[in-house]
This record gives sequence, structure tokens and C-alpha cells, in this order.
Amino acid sequence: MASSRPADAETVRAEVQRWLAEHWDPSLERRHWRGLVVDAGWAYPSWPADWYGRGLDRDGSAVVAAEFARVGAPFGALDVVPGAGQIELQIGANVLIAHGNDRLKAELLRPILMGDLRACLLYSEPGAGSDLASIQTRAERDGDEWVVNGQKVWTTAAQHADFGLLIARTDWDQPKHQGISYFILPMHQPGVEVRPLRQMTGESQFNEVFLTDARMPGHHLVGERNDGWRVLRTALGFERLVMGSTGTRSRDDRRLPVGGSIDLFDLAARVGRDRDPLVRQALVELYILRTVIGWNARRAAAIAQRGGFSPAASLGKLAMSRLLHESAGLADRLLGMAGTLYGEQVPDAHSANHALMMAFMNSIGGGSDQIQRNIIAERILGLPKDISVDHDRPFREVPKAAALRPLGAPAASSVS
Ligand SMILES: Cc1cc2nc3c(=O)[nH]c(=O)nc-3n(C[C@H](O)[C@H](O)[C@H](O)COP(=O)(O)OP(=O)(O)OC[C@H]3O[C@@H](n4cnc5c(N)ncnc54)[C@H](O)[C@@H]3O)c2cc1C
Repeated sequence: MASSRPADAETVRAEVQRWLAEHWDPSLERRHWRGLVVDAGWAYPSWPADWYGRGLDRDGSAVVAAEFARVGAPFGALDVVPGAGQIELQIGANVLIAHGNDRLKAELLRPILMGDLRACLLYSEPGAGSDLASIQTRAERDGDEWVVNGQKVWTTAAQHADFGLLIARTDWDQPKHQGISYFILPMHQPGVEVRPLRQMTGESQFNEVFLTDARMPGHHLVGERNDGWRVLRTALGFERLVMGSTGTRSRDDRRLPVGGSIDLFDLAARVGRDRDPLVRQALVELYILRTVIGWNARRAAAIAQRGGFSPAASLGKLAMSRLLHESAGLADRLLGMAGTLYGEQVPDAHSANHALMMAFMNSIGGGSDQIQRNIIAERILGLPKDISVDHDRPFREVPKAAALRPLGAPAASSVS
């Protein structure tokens, strides 16, 4: 693992060039190469030198990314390319770097960086989505372990995950934000039951997860007991940053992609609408929006690399949501009647309609558009806080979501 900290961009460039000249060989097996990059601290150069990084700032990391790209070597400076790799894994790794104990970091970071582990986010519950601090899944200490009971929902990729980033209530007598802890839950155990949900696209990417006496080792607590909300804010900040920047670093800036396979400029030309002034105006507006989102993402990422998460990440996520909806909507309009079709036989229409439906992932997952607007209103514009009637009451006394009562049971003022 690297321990030096190069002083400036040119020193970094010289060092990474020297290292690449010594180690890069296109005929190397991918996994072997990935191991070399991870152990040398080039995969996440902004991380501390003790934990697979080099303690570089954002400019230094960008130099690393550029040098790897110049010789065509993969896995360099993944941290300046938000969205590369699997979001849940990146969140897990960054949460561990910011808040994890050394034992957890030693156990999990390298396998995560090597792509050997898959993760999911066990946050939302039937009675707690936007108001996430209302979670009722509980974790109780039992000897050297934690025991978890409750239900999560909308858990993306839970059916494939090796571990879940879990929030659970550990103190019912504290106000709702203060009695929550953040954990790493091993998913492959009898107490974890994953049931896939069907989405409007026909796919099943997300799930219900039922936790019944699921167990975790004591050191799987991330951060302090009852301080999980602080850890969660780091995780959500990172998630919003990634969701607000995906695709803004396209290799070809002249493209306006929709769903991976359509380029709007190309589609407009193919359907003979590229001279239509209204279409051209819509294309340019989307192009400008994408460019500004890219700048915002870089600003938010720079702030994140200095150790804080900025509400700029919410701005980016909200703007990305608009970009995804409007791009897919324009693709559909360009396709005209064909845009009403769905299926593999009509690739353009299928891709446009799939992208249109998937755009809702960005406007709901990771905190809905309305919640991002609340954050922007409060933390950027300085407007009064959203109304809250229960933030200072012991959670035990707060009326709970009716959906969690057994069917037919009378309403109770306290469920705990
Ligand atoms: C594709 C997808 C993937 C997801 N993946 C995961 C995952 O992996 N893990 C996970 O834990 N969760 C996941 N979620 C859940 C997601 O985080 C929640 O759906 C989201 O936070 C909204 O919560 P809710 O569904 O309970 O809606 P609610 O909170 O009930 O909101 C309903 C509506 O009311 C609005 N609203 C609520 N409160 C306010 C307010 N204070 N001010 C203004 N408007 C408000 C909301 O914006 C929304 O329009 C995913 C969701 C989607 C769609």
C-alpha cells in the first residue's frame, strides 16, 4: 500500500507515469491488474494512504484518472468518475472510510475494491421512506452479537447482495433521529428473507426484505451506537452525489444519450427532425442542462473530497431527475406513433420507454424530488424548516404507521 503523499499535480503525474511504465501490460489478466492498482492506492487515490489510497486531493485524483486513460489502463481513480461501478458498493466503501472501525475496514475494503462483494441499502420500510427516521426495524445487543427484527422495502439488488447497509433502531426512548444505529448486515443467513417485487418495466430489481432474528457480529456497528443518523447522512450524501452525476462524464460530449442505446442527436437526424427549430431548441436545452449538471457534480464531489457533503448533491440529483425525464420524453416524441410500442422487436421505442420508466428511479430512490426541494429550500435558500411534530419526542411515544399493525388490530398510540 502507498504511503507517500505527492505534493502537487506534476509530482503526481510523474509518479503515476513511472508506476504505469513499470506495471501496465495490456496482456495482464484483468483481476490481477485490478489487484495491483488497488494495492498501489491508485483506484481511490483520495482515500487515506493507510486504506488503499494516496491522500490526494481532487486535482491529484483527476491526474491519476487522466494518466490511466492515456495508456488505456482500467480501474484508475474510480473516485473521480462518480457512477462507475455499483452504487451500493461505492456507498459502502465510502461509509467505511468515513466512519468504519479498523476491523471492519480490514475485513471489507479490499474485497469491495476488488469487486468480490455485492451490497444493498436496507433503509426504507413500509412506514418510513421520506421520513426515514421513523424506521421500526430494531437491533438489540445479545452477547457479542446484534439481533435484528423488522421489514425493509424497495431494497435494490437485495437478491444478489452479500451484505446490507442497514439502519435499525437501537434506543426507543430517544427522539427518532437519535436512537438509530448504522450496521453492516451479512445477507446470507436464515434470518434474512428476500422477496422480489415486480416493477412497471416488468423487471424485478428491488425487493422486500424480512429480518427475523438476523444476526451480526458486534463490530459490524458502523460509528457509535445511536449515532447512525450521522453515518446515514454521509451515505445519503454520497448516493445523491452519484445519482446526480451519472453519465455527465460521457466520453463523447457531443452525444445526448437516452437509456444507453439512443443518442438524441442521432435519433433526431434519423427521423428527419434535426432541422426542426423546436426540436433543435429542446436538444440544446438538454445539452446545456447536462453540462451544468456536470459542473455541479464536480463542485459537489470536490466538497465531498474535503470531507463534507454539500446540498449541491441534492441540486444535482434533482436536476438529473429532470434531465432523465425530459430526455426520454423527447425521444418518445421524436419517435411519434412508434414511441407507443414496447418490446425487443422495436429497439428505439423500447429503449426510450424503458428510460422513461427508469427515470422515476432517480426521482424517487435516494430521496424523492420533493425531499430534494425541501433540502435545497432549507439548506441553500435558507427558507424555514419543514414542519415536524415529533422530532423531539421519545420515539416510543410517537404514533406509528398503521400498516405495521397486525390486520384487524385496533390503532395504538405506541408500537415498540
Ligand atoms: C427504483 C427505486 C429504488 C429504490 N432503492 C432503494 C434501496 O435500495 N434501499 C432503500 O432503502 N430504499 C430504496 N428505495 C426507496 C426510496 O428511497 C423511497 O421510495 C423514497 O425515499 C420515498 O419513500 P416512500 O416510497 O415511502 O414514499 P413517501 O415517503 O410515502 O412519499 C410519498 C410522496 O409524498 C412526498 N412527500 C413525503 N414527505 C414529504 C415532505 N416532507 N415534503 C414534500 N413532499 C413529501 C414524496 O415526495 C412522495 O411524492 C427505492 C425506490 C425506488 C423507486
